[in-house]
Amino acid sequence: MELNGEEKDFTGEELLSLLHNTSPDIRFRAFSTFLEKHAEQGIVFNTVFNTMALDHGQEMELRGYGSPIQPTNIGNEIPDQAVEHLMSVTEANYGLAQQYFRIKAGMLGMQKIRNCDIYAPVAESGKQYSFDEARQLTVEAYQGFDPDFGRIIQAFFDERRVDVMPRAGKSGGAFAMGISPAAPPFLLLNYTGTLRDIATIAHEAGHGLHFVLSQKQTMLNYHAPLPLAETASVFGEMLLTRMLLDREQDPAVRRSLLCAKIEDIIATTFRQTVLTRFELRLHEERKNGLLSNDRIGQIWLEENARLFGDAVDMIPSYRWGWSYISHFIHSRFYCYSYTFAELLVLALYRKYREQGDGFKAGYRRLLESGGSLSPADTAALAGIDITEAGFWQKGYDFLGELIEELKTAI
Ligand SMILES: [Zn+2]
Repeated sequence: MELNGEEKDFTGEELLSLLHNTSPDIRFRAFSTFLEKHAEQGIVFNTVFNTMALDHGQEMELRGYGSPIQPTNIGNEIPDQAVEHLMSVTEANYGLAQQYFRIKAGMLGMQKIRNCDIYAPVAESGKQYSFDEARQLTVEAYQGFDPDFGRIIQAFFDERRVDVMPRAGKSGGAFAMGISPAAPPFLLLNYTGTLRDIATIAHEAGHGLHFVLSQKQTMLNYHAPLPLAETASVFGEMLLTRMLLDREQDPAVRRSLLCAKIEDIIATTFRQTVLTRFELRLHEERKNGLLSNDRIGQIWLEENARLFGDAVDMIPSYRWGWSYISHFIHSRFYCYSYTFAELLVLALYRKYREQGDGFKAGYRRLLESGGSLSPADTAALAGIDITEAGFWQKGYDFLGELIEELKTAI
């Protein structure tokens, strides 16, 4: 792709990171190039998706599963009806996402955004933070909740259990490693000094905290099950965002903090539900025979259109958007776990705001329980009943409040 007058080779990750570029033209070309490169491998993707769905369908038949998603639900210890309910409540709230997309169009000075503009930066605050500042902010965010949490996270830095800076040959992204209840956990970061990077430290520190607290468990129960694995990390990010919002005077930074949080929530709830609905339809239709790429693309666009409504235009090459979601191939129906986790955290966070100190002991017990209980029983430790009618809606009400807060910051 040509960038700044120069033709250059990019990796897929590099192209996707250009979705955060300030130029609408670069965002469009980067996403189009990324998708068109996938289209060139259409025969391969078609074979992989068709074969994978056929294989899964045959296994379902042999083992007597009632639906393609059932094996995943059993593994997650979440009843089928609860997952369906989670998804239908999410779909009933697609209007909230559309409301945000229209606000974002206004902030970007566009009539209507395209799906390559969703992550466009709203304000180039460009503020950079030294690692010491970032570490301090993270520790403070946790300390404000519970001094002991602050101490546990400080120990990662004091005991040099964090690999901070990017360097040649080091793996990208960020990660927390909980080895066993008998060994201290470690963190991997690639710190570059942005606000986003501080949120990443808060996120990984949350995993680290979860691993330390669940050291009470045995090796078999040490790791939290999938739908609960992101509880402490996302909760920690909420603590940090709230602390930064409460302190920040600069309206541009406040706006970008709020937009980043709202976009995160949209990506982990609404988008994951679109992915799961698409995946369900793919498996159901495969029962009737081979699917063409046209048909797969059609199902994909239909499910995305339900989310975007008339608030977002999809770029033409997006009909290939399904081909790069590796979860469809590597871990079937994984995606709704993100929705579950995010909404659970929003509910926990709301409860914390309501109850204050009274909430803390239950939340600590939740983290300490590791993977010893089912998701429903774990959540109950913090006073959360995930089977209660209207439970999931509360998470979306909280998102609605964040959108209202953003409106007052514009
Ligand atoms: Zn995580």
